[in-house]
Amino acid sequence: MAEKSYDVIVIGAGPGGYVCAIRCAQLGLKTACVEKRATLGGTCLNVGCIPSKALLSASEKYEEADKHFASMGINVGGLKLDLKAMMKFKDGVVEANTKGVEFLFKKNKIDWLKGEGAIPAAGKVKVGGETYDAKHIIIATGSDVATLPGLQIDEKRIVSSTGALTLDSVPKNLVVIGGGVIGLEMGAVWGRLGAKVTVIEYLDRILPGMDLEVSASMQRILKKQGMEFKLGYKVTEAKSSKSGVTLSVQPAKGGDAETLDADIVLVAVGRKPYTASLGLDKAGVALDERGRVKIDSHFETNVKGVYAIGDVVAGPMLAHKAEDEGMVLAEILAGQSGHIDYDCIPSVVYTWPEVAAVGKTEEQLKEAGIQYKAGKFPFTANGRARAMGMTDGFVKILADARTDRVLGVHILGPRASDLIAECVTIMEYKGSAEDIARCTHAHPTLSEAVGEAARMAYAGSPINS
Ligand code: FAD
Ligand code: NAD
Repeated sequence: MAEKSYDVIVIGAGPGGYVCAIRCAQLGLKTACVEKRATLGGTCLNVGCIPSKALLSASEKYEEADKHFASMGINVGGLKLDLKAMMKFKDGVVEANTKGVEFLFKKNKIDWLKGEGAIPAAGKVKVGGETYDAKHIIIATGSDVATLPGLQIDEKRIVSSTGALTLDSVPKNLVVIGGGVIGLEMGAVWGRLGAKVTVIEYLDRILPGMDLEVSASMQRILKKQGMEFKLGYKVTEAKSSKSGVTLSVQPAKGGDAETLDADIVLVAVGRKPYTASLGLDKAGVALDERGRVKIDSHFETNVKGVYAIGDVVAGPMLAHKAEDEGMVLAEILAGQSGHIDYDCIPSVVYTWPEVAAVGKTEEQLKEAGIQYKAGKFPFTANGRARAMGMTDGFVKILADARTDRVLGVHILGPRASDLIAECVTIMEYKGSAEDIARCTHAHPTLSEAVGEAARMAYAGSPINS
């Protein structure tokens, strides 16, 4: 039997909500979490980070076997894709993760209140026919797919990321609208499995927000891999038929329209905060101009005792940002102090090569008038990258020209997602490029490229390039 009264009720069991609930329970607060989905883990575990990474991982191995093994003397005869089995693998990974959260809820004695939660008033949460009391209510309801006018997502021909994770055959032509993270990651998956992928991006560059040099290099590499780009274009209409979709596209700055045929269209133009059915107007919780829940520096909304974290509030829509906010808020509610340095949140694109970044881009530093030094080291000069046959990309470290403090790190290359961790730590400790360079990096590792870029930034020259 569920309790009627809690110290904390979290609404939404994504990485923000479930992590917050676990930390609250660990700190002795009587905690429940409301989730309407049949499984825990939110967007991330069910239809986001985890299934996409399972498919990225599997398709990467397929492509390696198809295109790269032979150059290392491994000849695979009769390579065949079994898409059904690949999807089963992905579903298994998702299930292991969502069940894992269920286990953690039981372990930490957190009640899962199944159903849709609403906040009829401060201190009250309604789920189905039941109303519960809570000293603290945390909104962690995440985000939903953003749509485009004139395009009806049916998850069959015109799909969101959710539909792109469950296609039952490899499309011949996949058109991706949006050259952001989802567009490139899901485009990479289906491209590796045999689709001709065309990315239509409104801006004149892919990966907006990332360092420009990195995104330009990334685009060149993806083009070499077979991905096509139509930059500076917008989609004005989509006509769906049994055999496919015909898209009308037009230069974003105006010009002649043209048509583009696709078997499948993936709409990946961003995500929007999700607050539907919470009844926030009744509770008097204020939203900002973009529909995000407004919070103060302690995650509290304008209504006392109601807090919000994760994708539903401002900031990058990233699972680890949501998790950190959940953890810090739990600690604040338990009377401890907590803090997040939003300048030190890494972001990663899990294509091959990967992109990973933390801190400021060169463009941001220039705009802010900050004098900086850039140290850059290519993976072509890294022994381990050569041994792996993966030499695309570079590490770029941006350090303050006067103090040498690291202000930003941008990595395009193999395992960039792991390499960035060292740089995040250095930046959290307000360390310098010299600090990174003077740490011993094991040989031969990809991390030596980070050490060399740091040496380049602080001493003006690396050893191996
Ligand atoms: P969510 O994960 O969206 O969880 C919110 C939960 O609240 C949902 O389960 C929803 O059902 C529930 N809910 C909503 N309203 C109610 C209600 N009224 N009552 C009860 N329950 C409710 N981020 C990364 O950092 N790395 C990645 O690799 C990555 N890959 C991604 C890939 C894809 C395809 C997508 C779509 C996203 C990806 N993201 C990634 C982003 C990441 O998934 C989100 O940033 C993260 O899930 C946000 O967590 P959250 O807890 O705020 O919300
Ligand atoms: P995004 O904001 O990364 O990219 C959307 C892209 O669509 C942008 O490049 C934008 O300029 C473009 N766009 C917008 N309107 C357009 C239009 N009308 N025509 C053509 N292009 C248009 O959003 P996303 O890729 O949908 O991802 C959503 C969120 O999910 C992001 O905030 C991201 O952080 C998160 N996510 C993260 C990861 C990861 O961390 N690896 C993976 C997937 C998703």
